[in-house]
Amino acid sequence: MRTTTRIQRQRTQGWRKPDQCVIVDRTSNFGNPFTVAQLLDIGYAEPEARQTAVAEFRPWLRGSRSNSQSTEGDQRREKILARLPELRGMDLACTCPPGETCHADVLLEWAALPVLALEVRIASTRARVDRQRAFRGERPLYDEVALAAVLTRDVGPGYPLVDVDLGNGIPQRWDGGTWNQHLRSQRMHQGAVTARLVEVFA
Ligand SMILES: [Zn+2]
Repeated sequence: MRTTTRIQRQRTQGWRKPDQCVIVDRTSNFGNPFTVAQLLDIGYAEPEARQTAVAEFRPWLRGSRSNSQSTEGDQRREKILARLPELRGMDLACTCPPGETCHADVLLEWAALPVLALEVRIASTRARVDRQRAFRGERPLYDEVALAAVLTRDVGPGYPLVDVDLGNGIPQRWDGGTWNQHLRSQRMHQGAVTARLVEVFA
């Protein structure tokens, strides 16, 4: 895959988006819902406000609801998750100056994951969102069985699915087996399997 980078989108009339580039600023579905303006409003100063906006974006995209507990927020995250695979191999354009921290850097990290790792990370993120929603008595947004299908898929020995996410987006089992092998050996019912997966991956 080609090396991708962040490009500064210019607001001037002559600026044209280069080839193999996706605009991810606030005019797009990929925008950061945590804005510098909001943070300035509640008393942050300039450099910290920008850093905090990105620092809040990272766990939020990974499914954390601690800074945004609304269904609207979950739907907004889903708009990004659904289209993240489109960002693979693309440069990303945002209005942030180069050298300053920007949420596009987080998107670049996700887009650089191997296809399978990205798929698993997206599914585990959705499972995490629904687990928090269930905890608050809210309706699930996702189909549990469809999520379980992604998370239990048998994959090659290079991709064992385990308990710990080593940072590459693939939760790995401690014994190196795949989740399917494990669940078959446990003879678990589908409902129990799904509950266990949501627990592990969320
Ligand atoms: Zn930016």
